[in-house]
Amino acid sequence: MIKAESKGKSHISRRWKLDIRDIVNNYNFKLKETFGAHPAHKCHLCGNNINYVVVIDGDEINGTGHRTHEIGFDCLTLVLGDDWVGYQVAKREIEALKKAAAKERRKIKYADENKADIEWLKSLPENIMNRQWYLQKIYKALTTGNRVFNKSMEKYLARAKTMFDPAEAKKKEKEWNNFIVPKFEKLIVLIEEVDGDEGTLGFVKGVMANGTRYHNLTDGMKEGLNKVRERYKRMKAAHGTAPTSGTLRAELDKLPY
Ligand SMILES: [Zn+2]
Repeated sequence: MIKAESKGKSHISRRWKLDIRDIVNNYNFKLKETFGAHPAHKCHLCGNNINYVVVIDGDEINGTGHRTHEIGFDCLTLVLGDDWVGYQVAKREIEALKKAAAKERRKIKYADENKADIEWLKSLPENIMNRQWYLQKIYKALTTGNRVFNKSMEKYLARAKTMFDPAEAKKKEKEWNNFIVPKFEKLIVLIEEVDGDEGTLGFVKGVMANGTRYHNLTDGMKEGLNKVRERYKRMKAAHGTAPTSGTLRAELDKLPY
């Protein structure tokens, strides 16, 4: 039953072993709870400071006594052993507590030491962030502490800073949203008015989605859109349903492609 002797911890006194053996042998201990203790608590068994506490409680086997003890996981292993009923749960919970504490410590550290990095990442427009999964991972690491901000992340971030200019990218994003997107929307309305051809709509929407990723259109895309626009303008004119006032036509004429 008692594991202290078999594990042979030299600093543990004979007296301690006997006391603990009595307690463990005479009580039916179960796991009550685990928690992180800051400041540290004292282990009821060895007296050491412990930041992660396992609370065990049990009824006296041949009596009416009841005991509750706050102990460290090391003592738990030593005294109750890894075949004890609450061992696996206690182990899992303590590991989770340690992991959460490490995450929190990293988060606080990064908020202080990597403030400029975090600000830079925040200033990146969404369309860049959305296609940069590794920058997303770095941002998450720095803002949540969910993982260590390692050397390879550090290098990648330094390189990204030379590749992306957030101010320039923001400007492009604004232009795209304010001027280009409405033009796409008008072209889509025109197609829908004329024949609503799904293939053509799919093409235009696909080009729009692709352009939105980079806030940019290739010459090929512009050419393709131009052909669609011309064709639909002609079709609309031929059917006698062209925009009466020329408002839509004027808008379409302003398209940059
Ligand atoms: Zn202890």
